[in-house]
Amino acid sequence: MTKLKFYSGLREIGGTVVAVETKKAICIFDFGYAHADRIDDKVKVRPGKETTDLVNLGVLDRVDGIYEEKDAHELGLKAYGETEREVFVIISHMHIDHMGGLGSLANNLPVYMSRESKILYHELGVMGELELREHENVLPIDYDASVTVGDIKVTCIQVDHDVKGACGFLIETEDGTLCYTGDYRYHGYHPEISREFARKCKGADYMITEGVTISFGDVDMLSLEGSVRETSEWTLLEDMKMHAAEEEGLIVINNYNRNVERVHHMITELKDRGRTLALEPEQGDYVAAFYPEDYFEVYLPEGGELKAPLLKGKKVVTRKEIKESPKKYILQQDYKNVYELFELKECISLYLHMDGAPLGDYDPSFKKFYDLLSVLGLKSIKCGLGGHAEPYYLRKTVDEIAPKTLIPLHSFRPEQFKSASVGQIILPNEGDTIEF
Ligand SMILES: [Zn+2]
Ligand SMILES: [Zn+2]
Repeated sequence: MTKLKFYSGLREIGGTVVAVETKKAICIFDFGYAHADRIDDKVKVRPGKETTDLVNLGVLDRVDGIYEEKDAHELGLKAYGETEREVFVIISHMHIDHMGGLGSLANNLPVYMSRESKILYHELGVMGELELREHENVLPIDYDASVTVGDIKVTCIQVDHDVKGACGFLIETEDGTLCYTGDYRYHGYHPEISREFARKCKGADYMITEGVTISFGDVDMLSLEGSVRETSEWTLLEDMKMHAAEEEGLIVINNYNRNVERVHHMITELKDRGRTLALEPEQGDYVAAFYPEDYFEVYLPEGGELKAPLLKGKKVVTRKEIKESPKKYILQQDYKNVYELFELKECISLYLHMDGAPLGDYDPSFKKFYDLLSVLGLKSIKCGLGGHAEPYYLRKTVDEIAPKTLIPLHSFRPEQFKSASVGQIILPNEGDTIEF
């Protein structure tokens, strides 16, 4: 008998943790932080008790067979290796709400992810951008390839999202099939990849879909007749070409640095417009991991040595050099380094806020950030795209797959999800179990 157990991430955007349980194995996906707003930056997790503190806070779930002995036993759980069934984890993509908890897992627990996600995951570790530590037992799966653990077969199917390596999964047991979308969109560079996902999962018995874009307003999904979006990665790139030509000074972009492909396209499309990308070391490292041929320079305000192995041999550009020829550069900058703008403001002619933190007014930093931009007197444009399919495409994907049972989650209002092509829609609560 196959059971689906829902741990978290059902009526929130983040922390989706679901288990597929059979006679022989337990497959868990994804493993990000749930209820992340319970984390207070002013309070420290205690050294050596990071995992138990996060579990007690409800940010990580109480699950048997996934934590180290010392953590699991303190929590009254079975540790990794103590369950009868084999336990394994699959991760759809490298966004913190889907993978932020990996550093808390028992080191030997097998964690599967797409080959590209594994590359990015490792580089996130190299650049110090992972929570706690890098998980040691990460196993890559190629797109369209499968892995079988016990009596559960998992196939990794690529989707288009705003991060390299994103995939969904088709999970097969002797009782039926389940597809999980992860996060996906149709306004990226490769809408055909998301379309293919639907084709490959057609006829799944169960479907678990994200529903981010039906979270914020009333949506009548059945009446949607087509896409209403006017922007895409391609239109954003066209806008960038225009800004690069028109602006008289430095352009600063605040981009989410895991959206590596966007930076790659800017590098290649803007070089014949006389602009070189100056990237922070983290962003530079991620671009170099996937596009070793791309020419960019690495921004170290005061100069210095580049430590990351992938950045060896890259040209360093300093604050002084940027100030001398601002029109030659587009500077990528993360919000955490925003005070650097105090020294660059005279030479900046445009600041583009494109999907970097702080993303929206639900983040307490958002107002502080925009107040600062106005104190600095910078012309800014908010031109982010997001990574989630608009409601029309959410429904179209479900229509195409036509599962017997649909389970929408990863949304503040999953109850708004409707499709005429599904047998039934289930809205589970945290802790619920359903049988295939
Ligand atoms: Zn997500
Ligand atoms: Zn995502």
